Amino acid sequence: MMVENKNLKELNTFGISANCKYFIEINSIEELQEALKFSKSKKLSPFILGGGSNLLLTQDIDTLVIHNNIKGFEVVEESENEVVVEVGAGEVWHELVMHCIEKNWGGLENLSLIPGRVGASPMQNIGAYGVEIKDVFEYLKAVEIATENEKLFDNAACEFGYRESVFKNIYKNQFVICKVAFRLTKNQHQLNTSYGAIEDELNKNNWEKNIANISKAVINIRQSKLPDPKEIGNAGSFFKNPVISQALYENILKQYPDISAYRIDENNVKIAAGWLIEKSGWKGKKIGNHGVHDRQALVLVNYGNAEGKDILALSTQIIEDIQLKFGIKLEREVNII
Ligand SMILES: Cc1cc2nc3c(=O)[nH]c(=O)nc-3n(C[C@H](O)[C@H](O)[C@H](O)COP(=O)(O)OP(=O)(O)OC[C@H]3O[C@@H](n4cnc5c(N)ncnc54)[C@H](O)[C@@H]3O)c2cc1C
Repeated sequence: MMVENKNLKELNTFGISANCKYFIEINSIEELQEALKFSKSKKLSPFILGGGSNLLLTQDIDTLVIHNNIKGFEVVEESENEVVVEVGAGEVWHELVMHCIEKNWGGLENLSLIPGRVGASPMQNIGAYGVEIKDVFEYLKAVEIATENEKLFDNAACEFGYRESVFKNIYKNQFVICKVAFRLTKNQHQLNTSYGAIEDELNKNNWEKNIANISKAVINIRQSKLPDPKEIGNAGSFFKNPVISQALYENILKQYPDISAYRIDENNVKIAAGWLIEKSGWKGKKIGNHGVHDRQALVLVNYGNAEGKDILALSTQIIEDIQLKFGIKLEREVNII
């Protein structure tokens, strides 16, 4: 049912109060096509909303918001060692991960407890603890907003990168992702414990290394490190970890031997954005009812009735400060609306 002037505070994890002109929840491709016809009749470019966990609303949305609630879970290919599952965009991401673990299907365990819906997972190639969805992604089915035609994108067509895909770039706001398929292992799982914290958690609890325990370890680590959006409004990491040249890295290293960095290749080093923010004195900084989280400098938070534009202004101040202090330009990971 179409609603006019809906408030979106409960539908974004930052808990920002903003209204949209029209709002509709769609449960099928047919309902989506109807909604697209409506937006065309009003000459509006629709905005697609999933779980609202990667957004900062800085103003009212003067258009039709389509809340994608397409459900479904189908095994479309199965062999002795692998399974391909096609999942509706409206399924909750963590519920999919839990379902796969119950079935003993491997590949998603490191991505446990990431908020949001399945449909948004390819948007920024979600990743955590050494795994990105591109590692298990098979294809997605999307509807083109302009033509209402369905189109299939395989892994290469999505042009996945670090928190990037074609849908954040050349195809921005042009497709509605409706189904996403993943290729998972049924046995001989490729366990990834390259992040030391996972090994530590397994050892601490005396847990054998398997997909269920890796998932449990990731959940424990995340719960101890990240603020729960139900308690404090946030959208996870606000900035991406910047990749810098070897020369700049060596320069910074002279002054800061404790710099938190990860080598990408001979010439490039990834720096922990949280470390840069903390070193610049922003961690725990509170300005009115918003600020930088006191345990996780990468996370900007809404303590109460903050406005999106104030959080955006804080992020700009942080970007400018880091640029000045380290010569590194931070990029936002969160979508600014
Ligand atoms: C506490 C916390 C921890 C987080 N940890 C991580 C993490 O470890 N790794 C990580 O990668 N991310 C993380 N995130 C960010 C976020 O959870 C993911 O990016 C998630 O995939 C967003 O899903 P969503 O459904 O909430 O998307 P939304 O926020 O609703 O939308 C995000 C963008 O995708 C578009 N979109 C959404 N659905 C569709 C669709 N079906 N078709 C087309 N476009 C669509 C929207 O228009 C918007 O531009 C975290 C967020 C929080 C709050």
